[in-house]
Amino acid sequence: MSIWTPDAITRFRQLLAEGHSAKNIAPIMTRDFGVEFTTGSCNGKAWRLGRPDSATGARRYRPPRSPRRNPDTHWIAPFAKPTPRKAVGTLGIMDLDSTTCRWPFGDDPPYLYCGDTPFDGSPYCRKHTKLAWAPYAVRERRV
Ligand SMILES: [Zn+2]
Repeated sequence: MSIWTPDAITRFRQLLAEGHSAKNIAPIMTRDFGVEFTTGSCNGKAWRLGRPDSATGARRYRPPRSPRRNPDTHWIAPFAKPTPRKAVGTLGIMDLDSTTCRWPFGDDPPYLYCGDTPFDGSPYCRKHTKLAWAPYAVRERRV
């Protein structure tokens, strides 16, 4: 037989309405009805009655709201976040990757590299692709 008789439920609702927590309601119910009501049973009953917040005194978990999006901005994947680049011409060999122009500057080590955005599948940027494929005389004048 359940401890939750219609009288117990009525009293429980009354205590909830008065703002008591499940922890406070349990001993009152135990005293009034001569049956042990635990805090857990009161929490469960409050939940089943649709009043979970009132009995526990705790707030129900709600996932955080997503920030309001400006419809004019476009969604960008987190992994697409650009990393800050060094200034063009200041990259060392360890800074080079598939997204940096590999045109070296200088004749003696340590070499610095262009680092600008590569052009159309070339390992060099637009400017250095033109230089790389220019006749030797033109290349010597422009570097
Ligand atoms: Zn370049």
